[in-house]
Amino acid sequence: MERHAESKVIVAVRVRPLSEDEQERNEESIVFCPDEHNLLVSQEGLVERAFSFNMVFRPECSQQEIFQTTGMRKLIDMAIEGYTCTVFAFGQTGSGKTYTITGPHCLFSEDSQESELEGLMQRSVAYLLERVQHSDELFQLCASYSEIYNEQVRDLLNPWLTYSLAVRGSTTSGFYVENLSVVEFCNLEGFMTLLERGMQNRQTSSQTQNEHSSRSHSILTLYIKHTLTGAEPVVVARGKLCIVDLAGSERVKDRDSDTEKLLEETGNINRSLLTLGKCITALVDPKKRTGHIPYRDSKLTMLLSDSLGGEGITLMIACVSPTAGNLQETMNTLRYSSKAKRIKNKPVAKSDLREQILASLQKEIRILKEENMTLRQHLPKFQEELESGASGSCTGSTDGTVEPVYYDERSESTGSDAGLISLLQDLKREIDKLQKDKRLLLDKQESSDQQRECLSQENVRLLRKLRDLERVICSSPHSNSSYSGISLDNEASSGNSPQCVQNPTVPQQQLPPDQSPSQPPYTITYCCTCSVEAHQQGQGCPQLLERLALHEDSYGAHHLNPQDGDAARHPRAVEGGRQPGREHPGEEPAYGACPPQRRRSQVEKRGYAERFQGLLEARGKKAQSVEMTAGRPQQGDPGLPLLVKKRGETS
Ligand code: ADP
Ligand code: MG
Repeated sequence: MERHAESKVIVAVRVRPLSEDEQERNEESIVFCPDEHNLLVSQEGLVERAFSFNMVFRPECSQQEIFQTTGMRKLIDMAIEGYTCTVFAFGQTGSGKTYTITGPHCLFSEDSQESELEGLMQRSVAYLLERVQHSDELFQLCASYSEIYNEQVRDLLNPWLTYSLAVRGSTTSGFYVENLSVVEFCNLEGFMTLLERGMQNRQTSSQTQNEHSSRSHSILTLYIKHTLTGAEPVVVARGKLCIVDLAGSERVKDRDSDTEKLLEETGNINRSLLTLGKCITALVDPKKRTGHIPYRDSKLTMLLSDSLGGEGITLMIACVSPTAGNLQETMNTLRYSSKAKRIKNKPVAKSDLREQILASLQKEIRILKEENMTLRQHLPKFQEELESGASGSCTGSTDGTVEPVYYDERSESTGSDAGLISLLQDLKREIDKLQKDKRLLLDKQESSDQQRECLSQENVRLLRKLRDLERVICSSPHSNSSYSGISLDNEASSGNSPQCVQNPTVPQQQLPPDQSPSQPPYTITYCCTCSVEAHQQGQGCPQLLERLALHEDSYGAHHLNPQDGDAARHPRAVEGGRQPGREHPGEEPAYGACPPQRRRSQVEKRGYAERFQGLLEARGKKAQSVEMTAGRPQQGDPGLPLLVKKRGETS
């Protein structure tokens, strides 16, 4: 059940034009319409009274204008949504109620072509049919047509029934007419057939005020069933539009013939209208509104109870005659209308909550199914795009560059595809990124391969140089197979700064082969960095000291592997070349650039110094023996600058 905001009964007043008879009698209008909301009743010297309503229609207003301005379309729209909407015309006999609701009586004659005179009933049904026929959803339209005559309900679509229908009340449906025939229609012709049949069956009689005066209240009810189509059709709304044409109130003294039958009719009509008046009065009174409303006092008020004080939306069209002779009835109608416009209703749409939930779920399922179908249709194409995007980027260019392939949004850009397209684009971006990373990695690998190649070439070159040097040393006239020239620093003896020892000629330290199977192929016993001159000048060689200190523990002597990191860090140590213009005295030692952690500790150095001392002593002894046999070597003779022996090579 869907509740609408509180709404008041809408009241419109329509003033009938002067009839031909009235014009002939030179009667004048006493009802004036200064604008579309105000109405003035003014009879010279007697009464002057102003009223305001939701709408006021001048006598010259057309039927179409009434239909448009009263908001009938809105009312029908709400009925489609499930609300109970009521429009009823009331007023004095001959004031134009039937004319407003169904059009003039002549309209129903066989040769009538005046469709512009059609009343609210035909126009409403035409609009309703137009609405439902242009909808995708299913609507079922039915109609019932009944009249209340002398407090008896008669089925106008089934006039052969000899008995009157009972009005029953239920807590869920309110008041209803039992066994009232409801006929389905699906076009205007079908409805018009029903309407004509019903109009023919209405109780009318000729009166002073109206040649075809209705002697009953007629109620046309249009039932609108709104169904959602699907695997399981669900009814979502059951709306109603009631169009009521009331019998006119009239004074008994105005009657032409006071027959018993007519008096009874008038009494019943007036009674029901009086009850209607009482109900309206009670409904607008805040104190009485919550109390008893005398709906049950007449069948008319019973059947209008929902429209008046319940959950419906109501439009009242008060019809008034303009002449002075109808002043009293006009005033009564306007007073009731003024009261009625204060009635507040709480409209409720008749739709089952469970059905609504079911309907919304079914609708959702339907949308999802449609979406699923669309996605399935587009899936092969997207897969194709994805594959071509992935492979195309690898093979599409000869220089190895990636040409990203993006999905062309213009090709397929329906609303449901948007998510998939964006997903696809994300994937493509990811693929591009991965391919770029891969390319960078390959580049890096290539450059590192080149570096490795360079290094290996450099190593080969250095190895070749080393062999050349070895050959030079071996062929040198100073080479002595029984002596190893070594320049060692004796920190203790020569101060703080390491220095080469003058003419260091000490026997080569030989290592037993079994001691170090993995030793490098060369044993260095000479500092390749120091120049011959330096040795001649008696300078120490700090580089060799350090190198010896570094490697002695491992090899028992200083080994130089051409692939050693030290060699790479100090190429001169490998090359053994003399640096032109660079001499030891006062010059920063070549190994001065070595990091401090590479320097040996004082204890270690002291150990070397002791050993060096021992070597010096051994050399001294040897020199003495050589001197004794072959004479002393000349002071300043160049020492043995290099003495590199191949491992295993015996002197
Ligand atoms: P009611 O139903 O209120 O008794 P009717 O609708 O039958 O009155 O109207 C009485 C007479 O007045 C009819 O002949 C009708 O054609 C005429 N009439 C009513 N209203 C209008 C109008 N707006 N324009 C022209 N003729 C009208
Ligand atoms: Mg009438």
